[in-house]
Amino acid sequence: MYDIKKTCAVYSVSEALQLLQENPGALIVNGGTDVMIRLKERKIKEAVLVSVLHVEELRGVSLRDNGDIAIGAGTTFDEIYQNALIRENIPALAYAANQVGSPQIRHVATIGGNICNGAVSADSVPTLLCYDAMLEIADCNGIHTLPLRGFHTGPGMVGLDKTRELLQTIIIPRNEYENRSASYIKFGQRNAMEIATLGCAVSVHLSADKCSISDIRIAMSVAAPTPLRCRETEKSLIGAPLTKQTISALRKGVLNEVKPRDSWRASKQFRLQLSKELSERAFRQAVEAAGGKVYD
Ligand SMILES: Cc1cc2nc3c(=O)[nH]c(=O)nc-3n(C[C@H](O)[C@H](O)[C@H](O)COP(=O)(O)OP(=O)(O)OC[C@H]3O[C@@H](n4cnc5c(N)ncnc54)[C@H](O)[C@@H]3O)c2cc1C
Repeated sequence: MYDIKKTCAVYSVSEALQLLQENPGALIVNGGTDVMIRLKERKIKEAVLVSVLHVEELRGVSLRDNGDIAIGAGTTFDEIYQNALIRENIPALAYAANQVGSPQIRHVATIGGNICNGAVSADSVPTLLCYDAMLEIADCNGIHTLPLRGFHTGPGMVGLDKTRELLQTIIIPRNEYENRSASYIKFGQRNAMEIATLGCAVSVHLSADKCSISDIRIAMSVAAPTPLRCRETEKSLIGAPLTKQTISALRKGVLNEVKPRDSWRASKQFRLQLSKELSERAFRQAVEAAGGKVYD
């Protein structure tokens, strides 16, 4: 049923990278919740799998000396949801982690797999985009850092050379999580075991008097061929007061930037409606989390 030629379990990142070099076409597998489905559907044949499930360097959440939060790519969604550092500093990410699949899936599915599979519906990505997360990519020459924004290059595609690179760590910079509050809302046809019909995360940094927007980020899943940041709307809302007019501008703005499509899950028209609704709701929640209030 599964066309697997060879599976190698490794215990370090360097071992994984070496095996990728020695076995052209080999595929990194972590929780396997995507890879196993693709194998079962015969989208991958004669697979050589490099399992990084037991690589300690890839697991866990830590606070770096400079205050950045580092999340190992092999950290499961359950671990992220339970983690005190995440809950205290990036609660929207803990919430997003808890929206993935079911308890069984969250126990094995990893944040690195969620990013690297390139899925436009990935539940962790909109929130990470709202915190301008950075990615540490390992190859045989060491580690280089890339922004998550721009990492998704097309449906199911990311800017990673899978023949020789792997995602090691996701970084949430200190100045990002210290200065902003965020909210993530996922719309699905049911509450569990459901891929997002559309997801929206909004983060805000409010002015000192909490009456206007100092900075805002709006990110969506399933609203375009890749996860999307609504950059024009963000720019237009800087300095805007927390009023009904600002909400109208937000709704209008996102509508101009999203490019959803029809699918069996939902029509384009429905996704356009969701873009407006979810961005307003996530904005209101983010403002509230930041200690502000929208004056209707
Ligand atoms: C029943 C079910 C329900 C699901 N529900 C949801 C849901 O609600 N929301 C959601 O977002 N997703 C959902 N998914 C999809 C999936 O669980 C997630 O995308 C998950 O995060 C993938 O992680 P993984 O560790 O299992 O990835 P894997 O299957 O191990 O890998 C996925 C891809 O990423 C690559 N990869 C993995 N780790 C690395 C790394 N460190 N460096 C480089 N490449 C890497 C692999 O080569 C592969 O291409 C669901 C899947 C199933 C089966």
